[in-house]
Amino acid sequence: MLQSTTCMEQTYFQKGFGLRSEIRPQLRENYRSEIVDFMRANDHRLEAGGLTFLLAMEFGFCYGVERAVEYAYETVTKFPNHRIFLTGEIIHNPHVNNKLCRMGIRFLPCGVNKYDDVGRDDVIVIPAFGIPAVEIELLAKKGCIVVDTTCGSVLNVWKNVERYARGGITSVVHGKFEHEETEATFSRTSLFPGAHYLIIRDKREAAIVCSYIEKGGDKPEFMERFRKSISAGFDPDLHLQRIGLANQTTMLSSESLQIAEMLGVAMSKRYSPEELTDRFFSFDTICSATQDRQDAVEKLRHSNIDLMMVIGGYLSSNTNNLTKIAATFAPAFHIQEAASILDADSIRHKPAGEKEEVVTRGWFPQSARIIGITAGASTPNNQIGETIERMVAFRGTIDLVTIIGAH
Ligand code: SF4
Repeated sequence: MLQSTTCMEQTYFQKGFGLRSEIRPQLRENYRSEIVDFMRANDHRLEAGGLTFLLAMEFGFCYGVERAVEYAYETVTKFPNHRIFLTGEIIHNPHVNNKLCRMGIRFLPCGVNKYDDVGRDDVIVIPAFGIPAVEIELLAKKGCIVVDTTCGSVLNVWKNVERYARGGITSVVHGKFEHEETEATFSRTSLFPGAHYLIIRDKREAAIVCSYIEKGGDKPEFMERFRKSISAGFDPDLHLQRIGLANQTTMLSSESLQIAEMLGVAMSKRYSPEELTDRFFSFDTICSATQDRQDAVEKLRHSNIDLMMVIGGYLSSNTNNLTKIAATFAPAFHIQEAASILDADSIRHKPAGEKEEVVTRGWFPQSARIIGITAGASTPNNQIGETIERMVAFRGTIDLVTIIGAH
């Protein structure tokens, strides 16, 4: 693990550069919304064009994303004469990533040769989800300047996984094996020889694991099912005897809790309730920002919502989960940005639980009056404001900002 140093050759930064006041005007210009500011000051409510917009009480940029974005902006100011690279999307929001590109930050390519062309003078920004342990070591060896924006809540998950690994306990991670955060999390086991992990995506996969724990089963079939989501040398007959659960921070918290319950019951049946304290460990590692946003959407359930708009990147796990909750009580449209609203009749969006974007016609019926709004933890306010502006314009009220100013 890299360490912060205080000497002249410091190459690892994790705490900001003290340039906040310099970058603040730029951040405001890029991401602020007067409409959102107005709603915040008015009980998260706005009435215009015969529509009532109800904004979830918690929405948009979380503390981890705010910090990562600020840190990236500070990096550009701090190192004007260096090449600056991101190891991948800083957060899962195309609008923010495009802004960073326009500021001169480049994205490293995917794949094994990712770091081939970077060297001592280059600045590498690690995104809020973190990167695999082996890549952190490689950057240290190369002597690159590293700006690490890994969120504290992600570091907390790593701490749990490392504690499991140290104690010979297999980490069972509720997450998506292809997600950067989960990849970084399970990579922490590689720091401890002989440590193992297993990733489960949802309750369906948890049920398969629980059945194997309780009754055993077809080992080759199990290995094939989880081939992409287990550590090298994983043996379900050996490595499910003592397990510890951790979550990708942005999963659906209700599902994570159910999975913890399922695994606990399975371990108890396979062994005994008395042995459970030595065989099953569980810490809720859903971050508070994710939890707060999910709870806030849940609260809109009882507000007679005609339509829910969920704004955020399609790769954003927490936005996808907000859509799943919203879709249980209203027609819900997950859009990447305001521009996804093509016109009053057509919208580009990703339906809850689906992988592909679709275009839906007749999405905004004249009968729709109460519109719920939320946004994922990586969505800037300007995308929320522009979404509202577009919808109001379809009802014939053009200058919303003037209306807000008149209040
Ligand atoms: S969603 Fe949670 S873990 Fe992810 S960056 Fe935000 S605060 Fe951190």
